[in-house]
Amino acid sequence: MGVTKSSEVIVELSNKLRYESETGTANSVVGVQVWGSRPLIISASHATPHVRLGRVKSAESKTGAIALLLGQILGGVSIIPLLPQNDDPNFDLIENGLYKATLASLLNEDSVLIDIHGMKDGSGVDLCIGTGGLKPTPENLMPICNSLVSSFGLVGMTANIDDPFDASHPGTIAAFGWSRCQTSIQLELSVSSRIPPRLGLTFDALVAALSD
Ligand SMILES: [Zn+2]
Repeated sequence: MGVTKSSEVIVELSNKLRYESETGTANSVVGVQVWGSRPLIISASHATPHVRLGRVKSAESKTGAIALLLGQILGGVSIIPLLPQNDDPNFDLIENGLYKATLASLLNEDSVLIDIHGMKDGSGVDLCIGTGGLKPTPENLMPICNSLVSSFGLVGMTANIDDPFDASHPGTIAAFGWSRCQTSIQLELSVSSRIPPRLGLTFDALVAALSD
């Protein structure tokens, strides 16, 4: 997909998902779509509003549409919430929460789990890859981190590992994956990287990095 086309498709899908989540027409709370046989699971656990410690937090714009399209193009599996959530699957430790329980049924030791989030602008990078904050970065996560940093660099965007968000809280989706599968990371995308036309660059850089 060209960069402009990627942006348009994501914006359109994002509007449709938002409409469905607001009107409650979605027929399940967590949506899972199997697109192909690759052991790649693309999640966007904050794609709809969620509740952290009693406080409602906003949906992270475009992340659900990005996860759906990435899964489709890469031939893996997409998992996103379809309705507002009464808990926070990227914070709460309760493993029988609906989102984590659904995710657990998809994971095996060969899975590569990517959980996509949105962060504010101002941290100085377009993408922050959360690996848990260990120094050095665990060896099994280095290839995917290098690939993301270089793909973003090629389109003139910047990426950091674990700065400012390292996903080390034990309730994160990334942490949920560390004990269950081969590779698990969190991706935080800045607001400006999720707005057209840069959104198209972001999407194409993600596709390039995760294609191998
Ligand atoms: Zn988030």
